[in-house]
Amino acid sequence: MSLSLSARLAAVDARIAAAAADAGRDPGEITRIVVTKFHPATLVRELYQLGVRAVGENRQQELTEKRGELAELAALQWHFIGQAQTNKAKRIRAATDVVHSVDRIAIAEALDRAAPSPDSTLDILLQVNLTDDPARGGVTPAALIPLAEQVAALSTLRIRGVMAVAPLEQAPLAAFTRLAASAADLRTVVPDASWISAGMSHDFADAIACGATHLRIGAAITGPRPARG
Ligand SMILES: *Cc1c(COP(=O)(O)O)cnc(C)c1O
Repeated sequence: MSLSLSARLAAVDARIAAAAADAGRDPGEITRIVVTKFHPATLVRELYQLGVRAVGENRQQELTEKRGELAELAALQWHFIGQAQTNKAKRIRAATDVVHSVDRIAIAEALDRAAPSPDSTLDILLQVNLTDDPARGGVTPAALIPLAEQVAALSTLRIRGVMAVAPLEQAPLAAFTRLAASAADLRTVVPDASWISAGMSHDFADAIACGATHLRIGAAITGPRPARG
């Protein structure tokens, strides 16, 4: 067990608690997802031993492999945070508890068709693009409601909220404020869609200030990522 991993995890958790206190929020309503992409399954196991119960991955193949290797960690939740491809929907659905990156009806329909049974449900978030670049993942804020209405009709998906990555070219606080407005818009269609997945290593305090309920924190906890395989 690497001491520095536990120290980094504790330090991040202390900063989460401090940011929540500053915002007058209960840290208990904030889920800290540790992003383990590119790291080996052994690191995920160490995190589990330190009490981590939610991890995030952004590539289907890597997710499927790691979850398979760590199948005995039944209490561990796996979050898919990468761009989802329709031809991988079945494998994504089989390996994840929450998909954060639903940004078009085609991927929602593919995930719905991949349901193991008609009465199963998969938690999903609608990813919002906070940049002006349509090539970045996410639906534009203006197209969020029409997408939500279409996705809400798919019986095996449960819309829990919104997800976004802050644009590099803008202060995160301003971007996350716009995300909070999108989250409020979404609740006019899905009243209990209360989750906001926002905040990474460098901007999670701002995300907490803007109401984030799910933080996706990688390097600040895991240390630098190995080069992409
Ligand atoms: C990699 C990644 C993160 C974590 O980023 P860090 O800067 O390492 O905290 C969060 N969200 C998404 C969508 C990612 O791809």
